[in-house]
Amino acid sequence: MRHIVVVGGGIAGLGAAYKIRRAADAGHDISFTLVEKDERLGGKIFTDIAQDPDGGTYIADGGSDAFLTDKTAVHRVARLLGIFDDETGTLDESKKTFIVKDGRLVEMPDGIMMFAPTKIVPMATTTLYSWPAKLRMALDLIIPRKVRWAAGETAHDHDESLESLVVRRMGRECLDRLAEPLIGGVNGSDPKDMSVAATYPMLLDMEQKYGSLVRGFLAQRRKVEEMKQKYPPKPGARPRTFFSSFKLGLQFVTDRMADAAGRDRIRTGVAATALRRDGDRWSVTLSTGEVLAADAVILAAEAWATEALVRESEPAIADLVATIPCSSSATVILAFDEADCPFDKNWHGILTPAVEKRSLTGVSLMSSKWPDRAPEGRVLVRGFLGGPRDQAVLLKSDDDLIELARTQMVELVGVKPAARPRYAKLFRWEGGMPQYTVGHLDRVDEIERLEAGVVGLALAGNAYRGVGVPNALESGERAVTKVLGDFGIALAEDAMEEKRVY
Ligand SMILES: Cc1cc2nc3c(=O)[nH]c(=O)nc-3n(C[C@H](O)[C@H](O)[C@H](O)COP(=O)(O)OP(=O)(O)OC[C@H]3O[C@@H](n4cnc5c(N)ncnc54)[C@H](O)[C@@H]3O)c2cc1C
Repeated sequence: MRHIVVVGGGIAGLGAAYKIRRAADAGHDISFTLVEKDERLGGKIFTDIAQDPDGGTYIADGGSDAFLTDKTAVHRVARLLGIFDDETGTLDESKKTFIVKDGRLVEMPDGIMMFAPTKIVPMATTTLYSWPAKLRMALDLIIPRKVRWAAGETAHDHDESLESLVVRRMGRECLDRLAEPLIGGVNGSDPKDMSVAATYPMLLDMEQKYGSLVRGFLAQRRKVEEMKQKYPPKPGARPRTFFSSFKLGLQFVTDRMADAAGRDRIRTGVAATALRRDGDRWSVTLSTGEVLAADAVILAAEAWATEALVRESEPAIADLVATIPCSSSATVILAFDEADCPFDKNWHGILTPAVEKRSLTGVSLMSSKWPDRAPEGRVLVRGFLGGPRDQAVLLKSDDDLIELARTQMVELVGVKPAARPRYAKLFRWEGGMPQYTVGHLDRVDEIERLEAGVVGLALAGNAYRGVGVPNALESGERAVTKVLGDFGIALAEDAMEEKRVY
């Protein structure tokens, strides 16, 4: 029996554990032990289910609250678990987004794709941008490509920062007013360092193919329209939304993954503190003092935790992992009585650009974004704090951060000044978001090259090939394929996945 130790109980580690379990059920002689240092599983997926004092339930996602529906990993695992019908889409009839400008909310103009305008009238009439900025953005249509790629080259060969790309094609105001809060915010990254090739390579592809981001997005919009016409929704089918979650919150999927993998093989409140290689075998020391012997180890922890664990046995890998910085953030979820919220609730989010110099980097109106997140007559709202632009705010106490979020909700959103939250919870995410800086893909290629030469070791998690939930899940599954490959085991499931037969 081969034994695999999985370190980390986020979706990557649980994805690995569940895949090992499926392989064992398919007849392979393997088992696993998963260790998670926190008392709970899920990592950055954390659904708090709480009761309102007067009855009814809040479903509050403090970390990730959604996954992109066009990435298949979560759907696929949901089908395997028999919980596909427990998925829920966003409420798209109330989908507006606002941007804070000079302390006021300006609606995101219709036709904006990421940060690029694709409709003339909304762009001409919006107050989000000055006229010189609008004209500067239009220059994207005529500014020549920075460089023409040689045959066979890809975005990977022409990485640059988000700031460089957006400023060069569309101007500084486009970066400051939209690209920075939207793209930098979602990725917890500073646009000045953020790698476009590692996060949104299609932006570089668009510049190459169309000579313009606006033309690229227009072509993408046409393609989406054509697909909608060609494949109209089947009667009774779930409406297609860009993002999905689960009716009981996103942690529903990690909880069911843990159940299916086998909770008897999972230990929480136990950290891996050291990792040693003895020939082709491994030993993992735990915070309890125990030492687990293993044929393979999957490290599905944050980059800084993985770096510390591999430092002794694989210093070259540790040096590369150390180049992946991680930013910290916090989210505050508050519930108010509807009577204390005399504002239009027909929106999902507010983005606060860094140039506005506010502590709150964004707001999500959870009770308008998702069905059944709050009891009737209550409003559930979430604020984001910290991120690369303001790490210092996180030094405040929990109570101070909750109060800070509440007062900003009063100023920005329109909550009544005297309103007291009926539910309030702070979630801290220390070193929780890896930042993909320029050159990230080269470093990850090198990590994977070195890892391929180390029998029984695989790295997983959001630090390498995608920060989204589906990417992290897939990384855990890939890690299993890697270590089983080291044992000479090829999984029938992998062959099926390659053919996309689920
Ligand atoms: C506030 C926030 C909002 C987000 N929103 C979204 C979103 O809407 N959509 C989306 O797709 N993505 C979102 N993300 C990103 C996404 O949630 C994460 O990328 C993903 O959940 C990471 O999963 P993971 O398993 O790689 O890592 P984690 O969830 O970080 O899991 C790693 C685990 O390893 C454990 N660990 C660390 N060291 C040790 C050790 N020595 N021993 C044992 N255990 C250890 C940690 O405690 C942790 O539980 C968000 C992230 C944050 C922080």
